[in-house]
Amino acid sequence: MNLILLGPPGAGKGTQAKRLYDRDKLVQLSTGDMLRAEVASGSALGKQAKQVMEAGQLVSDAIVIGIIDKRIDAADCKSGFVLDGFPRTEKQAVALDEMLTRKGKKIDGVVELAVDEDALVERISGRFACAKCGAGYHDKFQRPKKEGVCDVCGSAEFTRRKDDNAETVKARLKAYREQTAPILPYYKKKGLLQRVDGMADPDTVTGQIERVLSKIKR
Ligand code: AMP
Repeated sequence: MNLILLGPPGAGKGTQAKRLYDRDKLVQLSTGDMLRAEVASGSALGKQAKQVMEAGQLVSDAIVIGIIDKRIDAADCKSGFVLDGFPRTEKQAVALDEMLTRKGKKIDGVVELAVDEDALVERISGRFACAKCGAGYHDKFQRPKKEGVCDVCGSAEFTRRKDDNAETVKARLKAYREQTAPILPYYKKKGLLQRVDGMADPDTVTGQIERVLSKIKR
């Protein structure tokens, strides 16, 4: 099964995509993670993307479409994947359909995590992650059980994303409103769009997504 998780930054796409891997072995394809890896490696592509990402704007369609086109061919995507952060524009949505048709694949469902925009700045600006295993935390909503120590791997090193500051978050939300939200009707028309309440606690959201998956499987 191949899914798309749609929703603004901070809606919980990354958290839910990781759970979909743990439960259903659907591979998380996060264009944000892939671009951050390019930036960290200092590649030519990373150098091109860095400033755009730090300004909270969208990297060019051609770049992200190329990254996804290649990634979907990897062996681990054969039994299913979850797109997290892609597509983000109508052009990307159309290109995705074209590439999947070419590869003999399709999207089985699109899950929209619906959230209240006012809550997102607080949600995003407090988040941080373990530098070693990537486990996610939040200053207010999810502190490590033992202060300064990762619950999962015991590391004492944490990182914060450079674009998770209040000013950049506002630009990212604007990009979502203006360029990404308009693709929701594209998937609604295809009968693929399912809305879940992204304001609920993460376990409840996971339950709602699992219900969507079982409907698709039927
Ligand atoms: P994310 O981790 O999904 O919040 O993405 C972080 C940043 O990477 C975004 O603010 C964009 O600058 C860039 N990015 C990620 N995915 C895409 C995409 N599909 N199209 C354009 N830019 C993207």
